[in-house]
Amino acid sequence: MSKDFSVPAEFWEQLQLSEKSALLLDYDGTLAPFQIERDQAYPYIGVLPLLEDILRSKRTRMVVITGRPVPEAQALLSPLAGFEIWGAHGLDYLQLDGTIKKYTIAPELILLLEKAEQQLRTKELSDLLEAKPGGVAVHWRGLSEQEREKVRLETLTEWTALSETPGIKLLQFDGGLELRIAHPDKGDAIRAILEDLPNDVPTAFLGDDITDEDGFRALEDRGLPILVRDAYRSTNATAWIKPPEELLAFLTRWRDIVTHQK
Ligand SMILES: [Mg+2]
Repeated sequence: MSKDFSVPAEFWEQLQLSEKSALLLDYDGTLAPFQIERDQAYPYIGVLPLLEDILRSKRTRMVVITGRPVPEAQALLSPLAGFEIWGAHGLDYLQLDGTIKKYTIAPELILLLEKAEQQLRTKELSDLLEAKPGGVAVHWRGLSEQEREKVRLETLTEWTALSETPGIKLLQFDGGLELRIAHPDKGDAIRAILEDLPNDVPTAFLGDDITDEDGFRALEDRGLPILVRDAYRSTNATAWIKPPEELLAFLTRWRDIVTHQK
């Protein structure tokens, strides 16, 4: 018998009955299609107006939890306002009042990441490199299968030893590899959000990538983990929706519930 991955009816019932709710969202691959030009990865058409309505209802706390630094996520979601962003996998936290809380990275880990970046700069991989808060990523979206494999092997050759340092991890994501600090991760961000969220607030977290699995796990029994992806993969999420149609249907249903008086 095949498993049912639809959003459970009880979840919608709870949303209807609750004065407050929480919508936790990854950005790339979840709200927005991947683009080779990463600064052009705008949300799927229809997403922004729905999120705007949801925010205007004042019944939903919306939090974007992304690998991107806060300003990038803000720019891509502009003109949307009135929500929080945990950027750089939880390193930077943009609060509702506009202030950003920053997590401090140990100096020795900063040095190690600089070294990791330098090692690849000498390998003609510069164009594929992205240095970001708490990590260095190699992006291979847009390359041929053969070129990807070459880049992957060269990167692993340089980074495997570094990745064994305590406090550092190597992540494979949809479109590349990233060497980054082990914590905070999206799971830490979600645990922090849940800490100041009453137990009975209906909560969902939507994500697509391997880094979102930490977040799915962190929800435990406090919310609904939803995988947003074209193709199913093994996941800690219990629901699965395909973007953009099913994502838009999900957000529309959420919007309709929170904007209509009970
Ligand atoms: Mg993603």
